[in-house]
Amino acid sequence: MKVMLYIYVFIFCACIGSFANVLIYRLPKGENFIIGRSYCPKCHHTLKMSEMIPIFSWILLKGRCRWCRQKISIAYFIIEVISVGIGYFCFSYHGFGSGFFISFFICELLLVVSVIDLITMTIPDSLNIILAFLAIIAYCLHPDISLIERLIGMSVISLLMIVLNLFVMDSFGGGDIKLMIAAGFLLGWQKTLVAGVLGIMSASVYASYLLVKKKANRKTHIPFGPFLSLGIMISFFYGWQFIDMYLMLVKV
Ligand SMILES: [Zn+2]
Repeated sequence: MKVMLYIYVFIFCACIGSFANVLIYRLPKGENFIIGRSYCPKCHHTLKMSEMIPIFSWILLKGRCRWCRQKISIAYFIIEVISVGIGYFCFSYHGFGSGFFISFFICELLLVVSVIDLITMTIPDSLNIILAFLAIIAYCLHPDISLIERLIGMSVISLLMIVLNLFVMDSFGGGDIKLMIAAGFLLGWQKTLVAGVLGIMSASVYASYLLVKKKANRKTHIPFGPFLSLGIMISFFYGWQFIDMYLMLVKV
């Protein structure tokens, strides 16, 4: 029975990962991602069902289109594998139930946000709206964090970003700020602080690395979305542990 559940989780998460690929590819181009069959990004040949099996099709076709033989990016495969990894993590954390579905969808959305931000340096408003919608569902299903804490959460990091933008022009994009507003409702103010600190700290480490390696200068913009998303994900699952750790350190 347990094995069957693992197989179901695999299939479900790989399919959602495949849909995440569709979103990543089509959303920045303004293409319809609900209607319209998948096609080869190189020759635009409509894919058959046998060419759309998540993870396996890419392996069986050795990463090439069956029609034009051009390479299909390994990124599609990696996104699907990561999706299954995230799915198994959510499954081991929550078991199979509403907690699994909501946390998996939130993490998948943050994965899509991260990749689109990496490619285009923008976060589409539609994704932030979906995150806010998922946060409301999460609140209805698991009201462990109060409404007041969530409403305060919407402003703690986003307001800080707006203030920082006044001093250093365009440090954060509008998409980053909206992301932290939606995440604030999801996490409540305490865990939003953890997410913001983790996100900004990891982005700073990455920026310093680029500066040291001379791959960037002080004017280079780096996408914040992936770092903020990582912070949100970690805090979503382990936020309270970080807060406890911090409080213990302060007491000593
Ligand atoms: Zn092709």
